Amino acid sequence: MESDILKEAEEPPEPSPSEKLALPSDSLFKEDHIIRKLWPGVTLEQWNNWRWQMSHSLKSLDALAGLLNLKPYQLSKYQRLIDTYRFAITPYYLSLIDWFNPEDPIRKQCLPDLKELDYLVVGDRDPLEEEEDMQAPGLVHRYPDRVLAVVTNTCSMYCRHCTRKRSWHEGEGTRSKMELMKMLEYIRGTAEIREVIISGGDPLVMNIELLDWFLGELQRISHVEVLRIGTRVPVVLPMRITDELVGVLAKHRPLWINTQFNHPHEITPEAQEACDKLLRAGIPISNQSVLLRGVNDALDVMKDLCQKLQRIMVRPYYLYQCDPVKGVEHFRTSVWKGIEIIETMRGYTGGLCIPTFVVDAPGGGGKIPLQPFYLLSATDKDVLLRNYEGMIIKYYNPQEVDFAKNRRAVDAKQEGGTAQVIGSGKALVPEATPRYKRRRQKKTLLRLDGNA
Ligand code: SF4
Repeated sequence: MESDILKEAEEPPEPSPSEKLALPSDSLFKEDHIIRKLWPGVTLEQWNNWRWQMSHSLKSLDALAGLLNLKPYQLSKYQRLIDTYRFAITPYYLSLIDWFNPEDPIRKQCLPDLKELDYLVVGDRDPLEEEEDMQAPGLVHRYPDRVLAVVTNTCSMYCRHCTRKRSWHEGEGTRSKMELMKMLEYIRGTAEIREVIISGGDPLVMNIELLDWFLGELQRISHVEVLRIGTRVPVVLPMRITDELVGVLAKHRPLWINTQFNHPHEITPEAQEACDKLLRAGIPISNQSVLLRGVNDALDVMKDLCQKLQRIMVRPYYLYQCDPVKGVEHFRTSVWKGIEIIETMRGYTGGLCIPTFVVDAPGGGGKIPLQPFYLLSATDKDVLLRNYEGMIIKYYNPQEVDFAKNRRAVDAKQEGGTAQVIGSGKALVPEATPRYKRRRQKKTLLRLDGNA
C-alpha cells in the first residue's frame, strides 16, 4: 500500500471575516448546533468541499471523548477500541446524527461502540474467505465471470459493521501502481472475466489520476465488458461527487455504481444531488443495504428507505444479511428478519422498491438469495403458489392439448396434491382483503347502475 494520496488534497483557503458572516440561516449553522461548536468558523464553501470534509474528519480519542462525553477512567478502554478498529467521521455524516436520540441510526453506524470489543470473541476475521480467493494481492476471483479488485483500504467514514474491518489494522493507504498492474495482468490473462468490481475501502477517495488510469487500463482489456464501483461516498461524503470526478467516471462507461444507503435519514438533498449528477452522466446506481439491528431492521424503516431510493432513482438491489465478522455481532439479526421484511414489502409496494435479500455464505460460498415461500408444492403438471395476500393458486404448466376433445390431455381430476388442496376451482381466496372488498363494491355499484 502507498501512503494515502488524500494528503495531497487542497482545501479552500481560510475565510475572511466577511465570508464567515455569509453563512446561511440553515439549522446546521445555528449557534447551538454541534457542527457550529466543533468548527465555529466553517463557511458554506468549505462545508461543500470534500477535501475540507476529509481533512476535518474526526479520528482522535480526544474527538471521541468530546462526542461521547467520556470520563477520564473510560479513556483507556476507548483507546483500545479505536486501536483495534479505527474510526473516522466526516463532519457531513456527523451532522446527520440526532443527538437527542441515543438509538440514532446514523450514530450507530459511525461511532465506535465498546460492544465491538466484547464481540471480538464471536465471528471470523474474514468469514467470506476473500483472502483464500485472491489471485493477486487485493484481487478476489470467486464467481466465474467477474472479479473484485480491492484497490484501497481508506474510507471517508469507517462503518462499524464493515465486512473488511480486518484490513483496518494495515493503516490507511491505496495499492501501489505495481500492485494494480499485477491485478491487471491476472485479468488480462483470464478471458472469462467480463466484469470488474472496484471496491475497497472506498475507491472514490483515492487519487483521481490513479483511478482514471486503472479504469482506462481495465477498459483496454478486450474481454472486460463492464466496470462496477462499490462506494459509500454518495452517503457519507456526497460533496465528493464533483463535476471533475463525474467526468472521469463517465469516460469509462459502461460503469455502474453500487452504494450503501442503510437508513432513510441518509437520503438528504446533498445525497440526492450527488446521485443525480451520476445518473445524468449515464452512470446507473444500485443500492446494497446491510440489514443492521437497531438501524434498519424494522419493516417501516426498510420500506421507507427503499421507496425514497426509488424516488431518487437509485435501485434497491440487495439487502445483505450482516456478515458474521469479528466485532460486528451486535449488528446481526436473525435471517428470518430479512425474510419477514421482504414478505411484508412484496405485493404491497412496487417490485422496483424491493431488494433481493441475500446471505453472503461463509467459506466463499457467494451470495445466496433468500425469499419467503411462495411455491407451496409442485408436480410436473402444475404448481401450487401463494401470493402476498395469502391467496392459494393452482398454476398449470404447459401441457399437450387434446384438440379433438377440446380439453387438456390430462384431466384435472387425475392431478395430485394441488387438486386435493384447491378442488376443481382455480384458487383459494382470502376474501377479506382490500382487493376483494374493492371487487365487491364494484359489483354492487354495477348492479345498482343496472337497476337504475
Ligand atoms: S465504506 Fe465500505 S469498505 Fe468502507 S468502512 Fe464502510 S462498508 Fe467498509
